[in-house]
Amino acid sequence: MPEKYDLHCHSLASDGTLSPTELINRAKEHQVSVLSLTDHDTTAGIAEAQQAANQTGIKLLPGIELSASWKNKTLHIIGINIDPEYSELKSGIEQLQKKRLQRAEKIAEKLAKKNITGALEAIKKTAGKSMITRTHFADFLVANQHVNSQQQAFDHYLGEGKPAFVSIQWAELETAISWIVNSGGIAILAHPLRYKLTASWIKRLLGAFKDMGGEAIEVVTGRSTEQDIFISAKYARDFDLLGSVGSDFHSPANVWVELGRLAPLPADITPVWTKL
Ligand code: AMP
Ligand code: MN
Ligand code: MN
Ligand code: MN
Repeated sequence: MPEKYDLHCHSLASDGTLSPTELINRAKEHQVSVLSLTDHDTTAGIAEAQQAANQTGIKLLPGIELSASWKNKTLHIIGINIDPEYSELKSGIEQLQKKRLQRAEKIAEKLAKKNITGALEAIKKTAGKSMITRTHFADFLVANQHVNSQQQAFDHYLGEGKPAFVSIQWAELETAISWIVNSGGIAILAHPLRYKLTASWIKRLLGAFKDMGGEAIEVVTGRSTEQDIFISAKYARDFDLLGSVGSDFHSPANVWVELGRLAPLPADITPVWTKL
């Protein structure tokens, strides 16, 4: 059997709903053979995932999804094959974790102004030590019947320009890439079509990303249409970037996205795993 790759997914360490062990077991059920756990701005789930992977025979690549800023835009940079113990990366993500907490406090204040109180306290209780993300706020808003779905929570409160949106300077793109690369990892631009950038902005971004040491882009995600794959593959070709595949799985509750359920990379795109 050929290897089955999924190089982007989340656990309870950030905004996923499965523990690292449950995630690995689910990946096994779906015949994934090489998985990268890429929680938002944390590597806290990797040790447990590695143990479970050893038991199930899955190859786990230590990974992360870093929040980065570039020209006032927020981007997500996946690092695979990183060294979670590398000091520059560790101290970098500590800074991001502080920013996440400060942002969460501000989001809660903005919600309070809309008469939605107690969000942060409730989230801290359920999230425990997990990275607090907007997904947690979305789930809180759904649970307390302020909205009917996660999507509505983003559309009405949490999305850019909405009443509880808080803009944040994450790590500079170049810095985020350097943490990944200097720790021995490969930097991948996550979901390139999800930033609402025009084609000319995406091209500027891809040029800058490559100059800064980025090596790959996600060509196939769990929600890519054929058209998305066609467009992303063209970007990979035009900028001589490797192609990655990752479901961005968060929860079994989202039936549209499953671990390992991914279209194949177009045949002429060099897979990122040739560099491993
Ligand atoms: P954060 O990094 O805390 O700003 O949160 C970003 C996370 O929120 C993403 O990784 C997604 O999981 C989730 N997210 C962003 N936009 C949406 C949306 N429109 N609907 C549902 N989830 C979203
Ligand atoms: Mn997420
Ligand atoms: Mn992302
Ligand atoms: Mn993700």
